[in-house]
This record gives sequence, structure tokens and C-alpha cells, in this order.
Amino acid sequence: MSGVPDHLRRPVRGMRDWLPPQFYALRRMEEVLGAVAESFGYRRVETPVVEHFEVLAKKAGEEVVKEIYYFRDKAGRELGLRFDMTVPVARVLSYNLDLPRPVRWYYFTKVFRYDEPQHGRYREFYQFGVELIGSSSPRADAEVVQVLAASLEAAGASNYLVKINDRRAVDKLLESLGAAQYRDVVYKALDKKLKLPREEVVGIMTEGGLSREVAEKIYDAAGELSLEEAVDVLSKLDPKLGATYGKFVKYLEASVPLEKMRFDMSIVRGLDYYTGIVFEAFVGDYRLAVGGGGRYDDLLGLYSGVPTPALGFAVGVERLMEAVGLQAVEKPLDYYIYIFDDDAYKYAVAVARKLRAGGHSVVIELGEKSLKDAFEYALKIGARHLIIIGRRELEKGVVKIRDLEKREEVERPLSDFLA
Ligand code: AMP
Repeated sequence: MSGVPDHLRRPVRGMRDWLPPQFYALRRMEEVLGAVAESFGYRRVETPVVEHFEVLAKKAGEEVVKEIYYFRDKAGRELGLRFDMTVPVARVLSYNLDLPRPVRWYYFTKVFRYDEPQHGRYREFYQFGVELIGSSSPRADAEVVQVLAASLEAAGASNYLVKINDRRAVDKLLESLGAAQYRDVVYKALDKKLKLPREEVVGIMTEGGLSREVAEKIYDAAGELSLEEAVDVLSKLDPKLGATYGKFVKYLEASVPLEKMRFDMSIVRGLDYYTGIVFEAFVGDYRLAVGGGGRYDDLLGLYSGVPTPALGFAVGVERLMEAVGLQAVEKPLDYYIYIFDDDAYKYAVAVARKLRAGGHSVVIELGEKSLKDAFEYALKIGARHLIIIGRRELEKGVVKIRDLEKREEVERPLSDFLA
């Protein structure tokens, strides 16, 4: 009996198995986060894991296309696994144009990326997120940030920080420096600002063709500011943008703790489709972003042909769980019923039925264990009570219920369970 080799016993690289305690922890996250989205009037959607490859590739951008799980089905269709939920939602809305706008949807589901697995980076993982579709109001921007903040708070991550930027601000800054044509390389460099030393980030820009002087100016402009300071900076770059941003900040001021919000021009985010505000959320000293999002006003039009402003965020659920230390939730068994012979089986079933109807979980011994072994097994699987229905109990018309935590035993009339 050698079985399969060890590597086949483990999940495919970058993926994981969820045993019950881990799965119940995930379920708890799902309940907590879902309740927040619901409380803001968002409604849950689900879509197929498999999408037309063309749909996925359309908005993905070069970097992300490389990360798509791609395959052909037996009929030769080119397909892929979704790498986020924003694209599937955009596709769904492209043939549901008559839904009243704005649409508020949320999801909690699996996505797939053929990325290099490492700590906090998986190939199959869960995302929780919302999409607010059909509004370009800065109030929509503030609402989505507020839902993100409320979600992190509810998940037990009250030590969060949201770093916010606006892609238009970076673009205006580049314009003002006469460097608009270097947008891509500047985004790429700024994206590395948190990870690399100054010299290297400036280096990425100069290698991309920028002068050292301008590259350093951009680097220095991309420091952290309070949101109020950011309004001043943006107003100087572009009064109209400053005014919109001012409103956004006012709405945020009324709805979230502003001290947990920072303006940071180095937050550009990888995905190509962002057009306005972008943000990333961090929790405590957990190194990786637990969530991110922003406005993507051009994306939905790509699918439907109808320009539709929209924004959203996605939280990496495994990362959030790790950041708040929620790894396992044990689910105890309420009752374990032990009988000594088959004649008592019908009573065990009746007792179990009654208890189950009352919302309890109940297991009936399968008839292979001695009382001692059953007792040990019940303790190991975390049963709260052991019910014993033996000949003596049946003669007395009772069942014996042993509380395994308190180590107390009571008898209850069998008739209580037969009604
Ligand atoms: P993104 O839109 O790519 O920033 O993804 C949103 C969030 O999903 C990120 O902030 C992460 O928390 C999470 N995430 C992204 N990629 C991965 C991955 N490969 N493994 C686990 N979580 C991820």
C-alpha cells in the first residue's frame, strides 16, 4: 500500500485545501463581510469561474494576461479562469443594460492568477468586493471607500490604513513637468516605491528616458500627505480636479475616520483600467495590501459599447484573515449518541431527530466502538454531550446525557424525545 507520490497528495501549486476549521473561518469572514455590503444596499452576484478568454484579455493589460489560466475546451473554445470579478461583472452588465442604475453588487468568491506563489500570493484565492456601477459622483467614490473601511473594521482589522491616489493627479503632475509621454514608465516606477530604495525607483524612470531632475521631482512629489493637504496640491495642479477631490474628501470626512486615510501618489495599481481614484488598504504591520480598488470609467464601455462610469474594490480574503489572525473556527458537535445493541437504534434515531429539529448537530455511533472508545472519540471530535441509551436506561424509560465539558450527568425521560 504505497499510494500516490507525496507531491500528488498536496494541492496543485499555489492552491490550498480548506479543512473544516479553516473553512468555517472563511465562512465567518464571508458572513461578516457580506453583512457589511448588504447593510449598504449591495446585493450578491456570482458568475461562472470560466470566461471567454477574449473577455478576460480585453481589459487585462499585458502583465495580467500572462497570469490568466488559459485553456481550450473539447469544442475548441478559448477559455480562461477569471482573475478578478470586475471583468465578469462588466460582461454581465453588458447584456443587462436595463438594470436601474446605479447598480450596487458585491461578491465573495474564488479567482485565479497564474502568479509566482509566495507568502500571501496564491494561484487560487478568494476575493470579497463591491462594484458601484453607473455613477461618476465623488459621493460614489466616498461610498466605496466607506464600505471598504466598514468591511475592514467589521473583520477585526480596525488598525487599517487606506492609501488613496488619483491617476489624474499623476497625469497632471507629469503634464506640468512636460513628461506626459513617460506615463507608463512613471507608473511602473511609482508602483515600486514602497518596495525599492529611492535610487532604484529614480533609475527606472531615467532608464525609461526621463531626465534625472524630473525623475527626482516626481519621486519627491509622490510622498504621503493627509487628504486635506492633497486637496491643496491637486488644486494647484488642476483647479477642476482639486474641486472634485475636495468634495470627495468632504464626503469622506463625514463618513470615515480621516486619520486612517492617506494620499499617496505612489499608489498607481497594476491593472490598466483605472481612470480616477485608486486606493490600497493595509492592516497593521501585515506587509502586503489586503485590498485595493478604484474608478474605471472606461471599462464597462469596452464590453457594452455604452460608456458607464463605475468603481469598486476587492479584498484578498486569505490576506485579510492572516492579517487579523483568523485561521480556524472549531465547530463543536452537540450530541454523540451511544447505544449498546440494535434494539435501541430506533430510540437513538428518535432522540436524534428531535434534537436535530431543535437545531442541534447529532451523531449516532455506528456500532463499531466500545463505550470507552466511543467516549474518547467523542472527546476528540469536540462533542459537547454524550447520550447513552442502554438496557438499564430503556427499562427506566430515560436517556443518560453526559455533559463532556462540565463532566456532569443527568437523566431525561425518553418520552421527552418521542413526542
Ligand atoms: P488587485 O486588484 O490585484 O489589487 O487584487 C485585490 C486584492 O486581492 C489585493 O489587495 C490582494 O489582497 C488580493 N490578491 C491579489 N493577488 C493575490 C494573490 N495572488 N494571492 C492572494 N491574494 C491576492
